[in-house]
Amino acid sequence: MSSPHPDPLPQAGEGYLGWEVVIGMEVHVQPRTRSKMFCGCAVAPLNAPPNTYVCEVCAGMPGTLPVINKAAVEACVKTALALECEIPRHTKFDRKNYMYPDLPKGYQISQYDLPMSVNGKLDVGGRRVRIRRVHLEEDTGKLVHAGDSLHKAWESYVDLNRAGVPLMEIVSEPDLHSADEARDYSMELQAVLRAIGASDAEMEKGQMRAEPNVSVRRAGAEELGVKTELKNINSFRALHRAIGFEVRRQIDLLESGGTVVQETRGWSEAEQRTFAQRSKEFAEDYRYFPEPDLPPLSLDRRWIDELRAGLPELPGPRRTKLVQQYGLGASDAALIAADRLLADLIDASVSAGADALTTANWLINEPSARRLAPEHLAELVKLVSSGQINRDQGREVLRESLETHTAPATLVSQKGLAQVSDISVLEPIAREVIAANPKAAADFRSGKTGAIGPLVRDLRARAPEADSQVARDLLMKLLSQPLAM
Ligand SMILES: [Zn+2]
Repeated sequence: MSSPHPDPLPQAGEGYLGWEVVIGMEVHVQPRTRSKMFCGCAVAPLNAPPNTYVCEVCAGMPGTLPVINKAAVEACVKTALALECEIPRHTKFDRKNYMYPDLPKGYQISQYDLPMSVNGKLDVGGRRVRIRRVHLEEDTGKLVHAGDSLHKAWESYVDLNRAGVPLMEIVSEPDLHSADEARDYSMELQAVLRAIGASDAEMEKGQMRAEPNVSVRRAGAEELGVKTELKNINSFRALHRAIGFEVRRQIDLLESGGTVVQETRGWSEAEQRTFAQRSKEFAEDYRYFPEPDLPPLSLDRRWIDELRAGLPELPGPRRTKLVQQYGLGASDAALIAADRLLADLIDASVSAGADALTTANWLINEPSARRLAPEHLAELVKLVSSGQINRDQGREVLRESLETHTAPATLVSQKGLAQVSDISVLEPIAREVIAANPKAAADFRSGKTGAIGPLVRDLRARAPEADSQVARDLLMKLLSQPLAM
């Protein structure tokens, strides 16, 4: 056994000399539906008391029949389309049989050999990741362990609120080669799911869980190494660290002459290490067979075409547009493209005549700006970038516009906010400022450019309606003139 590596995180860009890392991702995502996968129960909110969102169907009572949730199928088809998957004419549900206390039916309804979709792809950072399949299944319940160490009265309870909640399983081919790539892939997937409205994909709410399959092989080797499957990882950070740790562990093991055992492993957040859970030698045979209580599904081609036509622009192409057409930096573009509302707002604001970069700045720096109607946002941006009001006034207008639903231009004229950028008004004030701050003025003249800051602040204290850029330019101009003797 290798001891836990003191810092399992590979540095960005660091390779593992002589080794190649191979990662495939399985991601479980809860589609955005009101009800469960096969019954009318509402999807329980996170803090619902145990067993308050359960009926005889999801509790697995004998004699009950499942009914397919159309909204879940729709979310799955949209996801498949966004990932450019093929959607076969026929699909069916199957029973995956195993015994566990959180699974009252003794089986989970999933999809085995005829999944909803196959053979897609997702481009991430210039790398094409092939998608093997996207299918639908149901979640299980969960066990709650209670007790205290004093009385040793440990007890386990079953909460079925999550039993039967729809899940999409998105399986990639092993096309990823580092912790960075696996994390970036998962983040891109989350952005796509949100953009198409298929899921909120909040990892901390359990709406998206990642399960990477990790193996390593000697560089140049043909055959894949033995893989381990890391289970139920619920943050991007944990995903990155778990893979980093697991890669190091496998390489250390192989380099010291050991072998990797095929098994599922958990991730301990407390210890920052993976640990063995279940060896595949004892892997269960799930005895899949077609779910006899559900008919095979034949999806209407016209419905699929309608869903395809209704897909919004996806985050990847959107990012490219934000960078190439609008001139945004890569990180701002990523931030905005990941958020459909922001991306739509920029498009609308630009078509209403506002400058894209300034609009992006407002949306990034003033979170409440996203609540403005696009035409009001465009108006606000234009008022500020044309210098009619300054940025502080812009914030004030933003606040009032949100409160009163009044157009920014109306507010500016109502409040008489148009700012002073008229040099003839500002110049005498600027001269007063220079006279009142001889030290800062002398410092600036001797080359300490930072000394302009206090002078600008003083000027704006005297003339709050002055635009700070105009004030700065004016002060610098006056300070660079020869001193009057
Ligand atoms: Zn139910």
